[in-house]
Amino acid sequence: MEEGARSCLLLSRSSLEQDIRASYLMDHMISDGVLTGDEEDRIRSKLTRREQATALLELLLRKDNQAYISFYNALVRESYGDLASLLHNSLPLVSPEAEKSFSDGGTRYVQAVLSEGGVPQRPVVFVSRSALVNRVREKLYRLQKEPGWVTVFGMAGSGKSVLAAEAVRDHALITGRCFPGGVHWLSIGQLDRADLLVRIQSLCFRLEQQSQEKDPSSSLHRPPGSLEEAKERLRFLMLRRYPRSLLVLDDIWDSSVLKAFDIQCRVLLTTRDRSLADCVSGSKSEVAVESGLEEDQALEILALYVNGKPQRLPEQARSIVRECKGSPLVVSLIGALLREFPDRWAYYLHTLQQKKFKRIRKSSSYDYDALDQAMAASIQVLSEEHRELYIDLTVLEQDVKVPAKVLSVLWDLELEEVEDVLQDFVNKSLLFRDCHHRPYLYYLHDLQLDFLTEMNRSGLEQRYSQGPPTSGDEECLYWFRFLTYHMAKANLTQELYSLMFSLDWVRTKAQIMGPAHLINDYVEYGAILDKEVFKSTSGEKLLEIQAHDDDVLCCAFSPDDHLLATCSSDRKVKVWSGTLPSAIQI
Ligand code: ADP
Repeated sequence: MEEGARSCLLLSRSSLEQDIRASYLMDHMISDGVLTGDEEDRIRSKLTRREQATALLELLLRKDNQAYISFYNALVRESYGDLASLLHNSLPLVSPEAEKSFSDGGTRYVQAVLSEGGVPQRPVVFVSRSALVNRVREKLYRLQKEPGWVTVFGMAGSGKSVLAAEAVRDHALITGRCFPGGVHWLSIGQLDRADLLVRIQSLCFRLEQQSQEKDPSSSLHRPPGSLEEAKERLRFLMLRRYPRSLLVLDDIWDSSVLKAFDIQCRVLLTTRDRSLADCVSGSKSEVAVESGLEEDQALEILALYVNGKPQRLPEQARSIVRECKGSPLVVSLIGALLREFPDRWAYYLHTLQQKKFKRIRKSSSYDYDALDQAMAASIQVLSEEHRELYIDLTVLEQDVKVPAKVLSVLWDLELEEVEDVLQDFVNKSLLFRDCHHRPYLYYLHDLQLDFLTEMNRSGLEQRYSQGPPTSGDEECLYWFRFLTYHMAKANLTQELYSLMFSLDWVRTKAQIMGPAHLINDYVEYGAILDKEVFKSTSGEKLLEIQAHDDDVLCCAFSPDDHLLATCSSDRKVKVWSGTLPSAIQI
C-alpha cells in the first residue's frame, strides 16, 4: 500500500476502530478478492466488535492499494459516509495512465516496492545515463528464466550504485514476470565475517518481517548464529517466500562475501572488481560502467547544483569537467561545494589541478567524503606486493599507454608475471586496458595517476631527506632512473636543482645508467634549472644554465659540487664560472 494511504489509515485508526463493524465490511472485501476466507475467520474469532475492528485494520495495513480502495467502498456501501470521507483524499491512483504520470517514469507501486526493499533513492541532482541503464536492464530481463548474476563494474565513483538503483526503477521489470517477488537491496562495502553475518541477519529479518505481514501465520525466527546458518536461512527465504525476486548487492569487494550469496537466486552486484563473480556458480553477465560522464551531462550536473543553465556556467566549469574526465563523483562533490560557495569556480579548478584531493570534501550519502578516500580504498585492498607495484605506476605519463613489456622493465619481472599483475589491476578497475592494440596497452585514468602522484609526493620527500641514493643496488636503480622525474613532477625544484648539481649524483648516475640518461635529465629539466636562482657560497652568480640548448657531453664540477663547465658534442666548451678546473670525462 502506498505511503499516503497507509498514513491516512493510521491517522484515522482510532475513529475507525470505535465505529466500524468488521463483519459487515468483510463481505464486500471478500467479493472484491482482497480478503480470504481464512483471514475473515481469524478476524471473526475475536470476541468483541472492537477487537474485530482492530484486527481488520491491522490486516488492512499490510495489504495493497486495492485493499484500501475496497475498504473505502465497503464503508460507503455500509453507510459509514463520515468515516469514508476521512479516507477519501488518500485514495491511491491505480489506473495505468495515472501510474504512468509520475515524473520519474516509475509508478507509485514501483516506488513502494523499491522503498520496501531498501533501494536508495536517486541523488538530488541526477542525470540519466540511458544507454547504460538500458544495458543493465537488458541483462536483468535475462534473469526472468533462470537465476544468475549481473555484475556492474567500474572504477571508484563512476556511478555504479546510482546506475543499479536506476536500472531496477522500472515498472515492467518489477510488475512483469521478471521480479514479482520484489527487489531487496543490501549495501555491503568492505567488511569482515562478523559484519557480513550482521548484514545477512538484518536482511533475513527484513524479509521475514515483510513475509509475516503478508501471511501472519508465518513466524519470525531467531537470528542465524553463523554465516553458514545465515546462508541457509537466506536460501530458504529466497526460494520459498521470495521466488523470482532480485537481490542487489552493492559494493562488493571480496569473493568470499559473494560466496555467502551463492544460493541460486537472482543477483545484481556492483563492484570495482570485474572478476569477482568468477567464484560463484550459475549464469553470469556483466556491464562495464564508463568512468566518466559525457561533457554535456557533467556540465548539467554542475548547472543543477548551482541552479543555473549549462551554457551560462563560467569557463572554469568546462576545465573542471576536463580535469576530472567527467567523473560523476568529482563533478558532484565539486557541484555540492559550489552550491555553498558559488564564487569558488577558480578555486576548485585550481585545487583539482594541484591534486589537493583532500580539499574536495563534502559530506554526502556517498560512502566516502572525499575523492582521495574513495581512491585509496581500492589501493588498500591490493596485496602488499601488488600495492607496491601499483604505486610504481606513478611513472606513467598522463595519457600515455604502455605495453606490458615496459612494465616488465620497470618492475623487473617476467612478462607473464607482469601480465597477471596487470590483469588483477584491470579487474579491480585500477587500470585500463586498450584492447584495440596487440599487444594490449595499459593506462591509468588521470584521476588515478594524479592520486598516485599526490600519494607519492610525501614518499619522495621522505626518501630524499635521507640524501640521494649512492649505491647501484637494485632498489636504487629505480631512483637513479626516476628521481629527477618525480622531483620535477612534485615541484621540488630546489631539491632537483641541488640533486642535479651534486657531484655524487652525477658520477653514480653516469656509472649506473650511462651518460645518455644523465644528459637527458639536463635536457629534460633544463627549463626548471633555468628558473632556479643559484648562488655560489661567495654570493657570486655562477650560472644560468641553458642545458637544453646544448648537446652536453660532459660536465666539470668544482670540489663543492657546482657545475663549472660543460662540453658539447662539437667539442665546444662552455664555462659557467671564472675558474675552469680539469674537466671530468663521463
Ligand atoms: P560508485 O558506486 O561507482 O562508487 P556511486 O554510484 O555511488 O559510485 O556515485 C558516486 C557519486 O556520483 C554519487 O554519490 C552521486 O553524487 C554521483 N553520481 C553518480 N551517478 C550520477 C548520475 N547519474 N547523476 C548525478 N550524479 C551521479
